[in-house]
Amino acid sequence: MPREIEIKSVLNKTKQRDTWFLDDYTVNLYSSCSFNCLYCYIRGSKYGTNLEASLSVKTNAIEVLDRQLYNRAKKEQYGIIVLSSATDPYLQIEKKYELTRQALQLIAKYKFPVHVITKSDMIARDYDLLHHIDKNAILPNDLKSTLGRGVIVSYSFSTLDNATARIFEPGATAPSLRLQSFKNTLQEGFLSGVSLMPLLPFISDTTAHLDLLFSTFKECNAHYVLPATLTLFGHEKAASKTLMLQAIQKHYPELLPKYQKYFQYGSEMPAYYKAAFAKKMKELAVQYEIKSSIL
Ligand code: SF4
Repeated sequence: MPREIEIKSVLNKTKQRDTWFLDDYTVNLYSSCSFNCLYCYIRGSKYGTNLEASLSVKTNAIEVLDRQLYNRAKKEQYGIIVLSSATDPYLQIEKKYELTRQALQLIAKYKFPVHVITKSDMIARDYDLLHHIDKNAILPNDLKSTLGRGVIVSYSFSTLDNATARIFEPGATAPSLRLQSFKNTLQEGFLSGVSLMPLLPFISDTTAHLDLLFSTFKECNAHYVLPATLTLFGHEKAASKTLMLQAIQKHYPELLPKYQKYFQYGSEMPAYYKAAFAKKMKELAVQYEIKSSIL
């Protein structure tokens, strides 16, 4: 059972809008994340090795969000709300608590635009609200002509292979179901694309898997694909680097020396890898005619 906690603030204003996700605000209705991705950047001693065990529900989040959105709307401080940045808005417990649905009702009421980022297939439940927001949201002035609508939906994938995903993102919806949900969201007419964050070195960034990813998303008519390399932090028991190296040792022992070499001291892949990665992603975007940014 998740813990229930009370919070003072749930609408976080970002310092600067991120060019990838266009976030002016972020909202996290749950604390920690039962999808439990080994590479997750929120990992560390605060949440322990099993993120699901530290999952909390912000029971007064809707009341607080109502107040905060009211104040922002009164000052006409409209901006894109990213739902979510440090958890998934459609965790399994959302079926019971419906905090995301209630938050979308408020976002619709105060006419804010929203960017939903998810690894789940549960979003179909909220298409009605999302259609309403898409048509009626008030955009910040600089996005009126470029974005021109109120909803963006990004699906996150680190692989399209269900078995690989069970190792690295054991609590998340299987990629095959996620993909079907992505197709449905596109068929609903939403602006929707994919975040490939992160692609796993030598596992899902191989030429064969990249072609599978890009051809699959092209076939779906994805509006954009946002790829990124792997970043791992920490040496303690619950750190993303520790957990990823353990998983590589267990499931891909032949790759362990490479992962150890790259991540023993630093948190990022080496510069030459990142340069080759960026070049390859540019080529694939051109080859498959898919945008590499939302706008
Ligand atoms: S779904 Fe996102 S927030 Fe949740 S564990 Fe995975 S990477 Fe972290």
